[in-house]
Amino acid sequence: MKNNQVVYPGSFDPITMGHVDIIKRLAKSFDRVVVLVSSNAQKKFLFTAEERKKMVLDALKGTKNLKVDIFDGLTTDFMKQKKIDKIVRGLRAVVDFEYEMTMANINRKLAPNIETLLVFASPEYYYVSSRGVKEVALNGGALKGLVPENVKKPLAAKLKSLKRKNDAF
Ligand code: ADP
Repeated sequence: MKNNQVVYPGSFDPITMGHVDIIKRLAKSFDRVVVLVSSNAQKKFLFTAEERKKMVLDALKGTKNLKVDIFDGLTTDFMKQKKIDKIVRGLRAVVDFEYEMTMANINRKLAPNIETLLVFASPEYYYVSSRGVKEVALNGGALKGLVPENVKKPLAAKLKSLKRKNDAF
């Protein structure tokens, strides 16, 4: 096992300042942070996996120990392939807790040697979510402080291209 590496899996549809904050904090504590962009075919995303990956990379330009991968499958299978044994998830309000606990336990069942670490959202970002950001953008609200600068243009363009507002979620 490569000990000082973590995988931070998620949709990142799109990456928000909450995600950026978690990734920067992890990059200080671990030798390598692998952001794993999910390309789960069963899930509906606004952006393609490649677009989401590019936005993560652009938002975190200069973070040397960051890697961004795309994976369609179980996070634990990716981790076994890469020999990484720590998953990190972010925790915002109490509503995240049950979902994260369930996921951590499913993953423990699938791969008992892989540990899930939970990191609390910083207070200034605890209310920020990709869904919320899309909602704000769809309704013409200001995105300042919610998403990295590089996300603003692609988000506006993507939302403009939608036939129905509901397709954003
Ligand atoms: P998923 O669809 O897997 O939940 P997300 O991209 O929504 O993917 O979130 C990825 C991870 O980041 C999750 O653990 C989520 O709780 C966490 N997260 C999302 N927004 C924030 C935030 N503002 N602060 C801290 N963690 C966050």
